[in-house]
Amino acid sequence: MSERVIPLVDQRHPSLPLPHAAGAALSTTPTDALRRPLTDLRISVTDRCNFRCSYCMPKEVFDKDYAYLPQSHLLSFEEITRLATVFVGRGVRKIRLTGGEPLLRKNIEILISQLAALRTPDGQPLDLTLTTNGSLLARKAQSLKDAGLQRVTVSLDGLDDAVFRQMNDVDFPVEEVLQGIAAAKAAGLGPIKVNMVVKRGTNDHEILPMARHFQGTGVVLRFIEYMDVGATNGWCMDEVLPSAEVVQRIQAEMPLVQLGHSALGETAERWGYANAQGDYDPQLGEVGVISSVTQAFCGDCNRARLSTEGRLYLCLFASQGYDLRQLLRDQISTDEAMAATIDAIWQGRADQYSVLRSLRGPDTAGGPGRRVEMSYIGG
Ligand code: SAM
Ligand code: SF4
Ligand code: SF4
Repeated sequence: MSERVIPLVDQRHPSLPLPHAAGAALSTTPTDALRRPLTDLRISVTDRCNFRCSYCMPKEVFDKDYAYLPQSHLLSFEEITRLATVFVGRGVRKIRLTGGEPLLRKNIEILISQLAALRTPDGQPLDLTLTTNGSLLARKAQSLKDAGLQRVTVSLDGLDDAVFRQMNDVDFPVEEVLQGIAAAKAAGLGPIKVNMVVKRGTNDHEILPMARHFQGTGVVLRFIEYMDVGATNGWCMDEVLPSAEVVQRIQAEMPLVQLGHSALGETAERWGYANAQGDYDPQLGEVGVISSVTQAFCGDCNRARLSTEGRLYLCLFASQGYDLRQLLRDQISTDEAMAATIDAIWQGRADQYSVLRSLRGPDTAGGPGRRVEMSYIGG
């Protein structure tokens, strides 16, 4: 067997030059070069994590010598909230906090309460959510809810304790994540979604136990195809289990009917559990599959990502981002000037990595150089 070579990685590529945006922001919200609006902002609040999932932060790379961002490079809560306010003015309606592990960021509740207070131009609150590995959720669910968080997505790659410990690679017990999910439910952080990354040969035998466990609980389980994000996980297509096969395996035991998309830009294909008559039974609930590899869904991708140090990335597979922290810290940028810059950046966006991958195969990256890691840019 050939040895897996994992390259050392430095995320801190030079940032892209900010577009010159001399005028005012647009009078309408911007659309990109493929006519996609900007409605969804993912904010990474830390590049650190207490797990070492091999598909995201493999131990061999993210070891004790790994150079995480120094504290002074992180956006402060005030900086994040200021930028978020500007983004909401440009059309953003949904904010997802992520990382790294977002619950490791000290006093995250303060940031949540600041973001929960934001309103859209027509006075509506934002859809405010967070993705977590669940390890600290049992302890934090109530304070997150009290701060104004609406719901959570929990990542969970198997129910079998040995498999789960192998997936997180830090020997973390599955029971504590299940307690976190229960605490989130009790606190009213629903509807809760659970994301399972499926790696063929590693945890695909957990698909059915996970489906059985969450059926009828109100929790929406979603299966994510293992993606070629970043540059360190040693991805290969052999380890991808296509979503179509996930659906087939569940169908064989629990009949499913396909449901429509719930929102524009929704990444999951939804399948509802059927009753004896073959109709969708809302009591039994639904599962989702996210076919990031086998079925490109760039066509309505409305997501931007803000890294922990304030760089704006236009695609999960991008290698470079725009340094918005520079604007925040230069003292002279007004919110209006930032809005105009964001408009200009978004209008220049033509990213569609997944579409290109399905046409030409993997590694047709969305820009020159090594892709940034998911733990840095936010999932
Ligand atoms: N630490 C949090 C967590 O795990 O939920 C938030 C950050 S994590 C980067 C966000 C999501 O990305 C998780 O659901 C994780 O499973 C997913 N993810 C990370 N690497 C992935 C990969 N190579 N393929 C598919 N999903 C991946
Ligand atoms: Fe950490 Fe989430 Fe990445 Fe796993 S997927 S290593 S929990 S950031
Ligand atoms: Fe969006 Fe990039 Fe993913 Fe396509 S590959 S859906 S453009 S993040």
